Amino acid sequence: MRIGICGGPYANPYALRAFIDDARGRGCERLFCLGDLGGFGAEMDALWPLLASGEVECIAGNYDVALARGEDDCGCGYRDERDNTFAQLIYDHTRANTSRAFSAWMGYLPTERRLSIGGVSLHLVHGSPLALNDFWWESLSEGEHRSRVAASGADVIVCTHSGLPWQRRIGDALVVNVGVIGKPANDGQQGVWYAIIDIDTAETDLDTFVAGGTRPGADVSSGTGAASTITATGSTISGTNTGGGTGREVGTDRARAELIRLDYDWQAHAASMRAAGLPEPFVSTIETGWWTTCLEVLPPAERARGRYHLYRSTLPEAFAPAQDGWGAAPAADADRTNALPVIPLFGSQYFPSRLWIYSNFHCNLACDYCAVASSPKARARSLSLGQFRDVVDEAVAEGFTELYITGGEPMLLPDLPAMLHHAVEKLPTVLLTNAMLLRGGRLDRLRDLAGHPNLVLQTSLDGARAATHDAHRGRGSWTKTMAGIEQAVALRLPLRVALTQTPENTPEIGEVAALLADLGLPVEAFAVRPMLRRGLSEDGMDISEDSTIPELTVTADGLHWHPAGADLASSPDMFLAPAGTSLSVGKQLATERFFSARLTDGSLPAAYRCAI
Ligand code: SF4
Repeated sequence: MRIGICGGPYANPYALRAFIDDARGRGCERLFCLGDLGGFGAEMDALWPLLASGEVECIAGNYDVALARGEDDCGCGYRDERDNTFAQLIYDHTRANTSRAFSAWMGYLPTERRLSIGGVSLHLVHGSPLALNDFWWESLSEGEHRSRVAASGADVIVCTHSGLPWQRRIGDALVVNVGVIGKPANDGQQGVWYAIIDIDTAETDLDTFVAGGTRPGADVSSGTGAASTITATGSTISGTNTGGGTGREVGTDRARAELIRLDYDWQAHAASMRAAGLPEPFVSTIETGWWTTCLEVLPPAERARGRYHLYRSTLPEAFAPAQDGWGAAPAADADRTNALPVIPLFGSQYFPSRLWIYSNFHCNLACDYCAVASSPKARARSLSLGQFRDVVDEAVAEGFTELYITGGEPMLLPDLPAMLHHAVEKLPTVLLTNAMLLRGGRLDRLRDLAGHPNLVLQTSLDGARAATHDAHRGRGSWTKTMAGIEQAVALRLPLRVALTQTPENTPEIGEVAALLADLGLPVEAFAVRPMLRRGLSEDGMDISEDSTIPELTVTADGLHWHPAGADLASSPDMFLAPAGTSLSVGKQLATERFFSARLTDGSLPAAYRCAI
């Protein structure tokens, strides 16, 4: 037997009509709706005749229960104040535009149903077997999934409410979240989702109707018909396993689900919402496929998959970077987000659109505080020129606005000049170097980049005197770095200098600033940054995913959370994904981890800027 099940029509008669036609056209013998008839669109009363003529068997969602009872809010279960504001806005509209008769009809719907079809037990719920407004997300822990399955006991459990479709076997049960047909699934597509479940009924009885429910059009007011024994809020036979005589181990093997993307006339739906005066963020979701409201309820994994991740209003109060400077993130794309209450994480101050590229890890120095454990003996991890070009091109396509090329010492790579030429033609680029090799043939190969508006060099100077600098970076390094700085200034290569602060060089910071000013560097080209306890360093500031913002970093090993954690051996905690992972996926992984960290204690991380 084949059945079609939808969730959340959300006052979208265009999608409901398409669901009925599509499911019937695919051979579904029975159609079900798992509730939340209202909650996004404008044409609530248009649903009722469609449900009746399409013979769609309904259970009630929290929305329907609230409407039937005349509650003041929808009971969706949001916890964030901003989510609740949007939920209230559309609930008030829905309540004012739903006929009394339709609301009363909802009051007779069961809030769950149990069926036995061919010996396979099915449990139809709105949220989950635990609660009417439970959000059964795909990303819940295994324990959370199993507790819901155990609360049901059915072979097949079908739910909606969260709005995002998924299916998987959990223990012996097949669990299907059918998604909703009222709005897209936050996937950038206008189409919506429903599920078809095929049950092999060859061996046993066909279509045993176990639990009560109501088919649209049934005379519920007279107390006759299947729904007459069911109250608006009560469950039907909750907790009873109605799995029939064949047992679950047979039943689950005989049930299969398919999630169906449904095309429908979303343009007409959007026009109807606009004509009704519904807010543009709601209409935008219908037209673009991206959620623009009620984002805070989404767990990290589900939230990271969408385009928008945060309410715009979250930014000013809750977050300020640790320090601004050359690496300050650009403002979020004004054209794309100004009309919306939400923004993407990427491109905001939480996730700057700069990409770090480790060209290599070997270095002519072996600084004792090197956060990525570089040295002449470091494991060879160089990007080829082809790999580098591919990353840069991908960065452009993915919306990155700055490149930071670092190592190791990038100037050790023969291909560096070609890499730089490619980079600066695409994006503003900062080359991080210890400046010791800015001489001879290596310098000659950079001469034609002097004055290029997209190129800046950054180097490190850790003291006003050789002894201070060399104490951490190696004998003779101060003299060579100073010579390199002078060469860069003479060549008019824009240069910035950072001092990694240690107890030894703290008294010399003023002298270093004066030294650089004497060489002609502007005052804003010098900055001080704290030492980190990472890589070779046993002292300094601790940073982790919980305490700093992501700055996506590419190495030959793969993608990393932050440039200071780019050495896989000493910073496995900051590893995101292996080589070959796209930057698009890397952005998604970083976004997911950001929200995982944030949601642990509700706080937001600050920025540690390697590039000042
Ligand atoms: S801190 Fe820089 S110069 Fe020193 S070893 Fe590490 S990469 Fe090389």
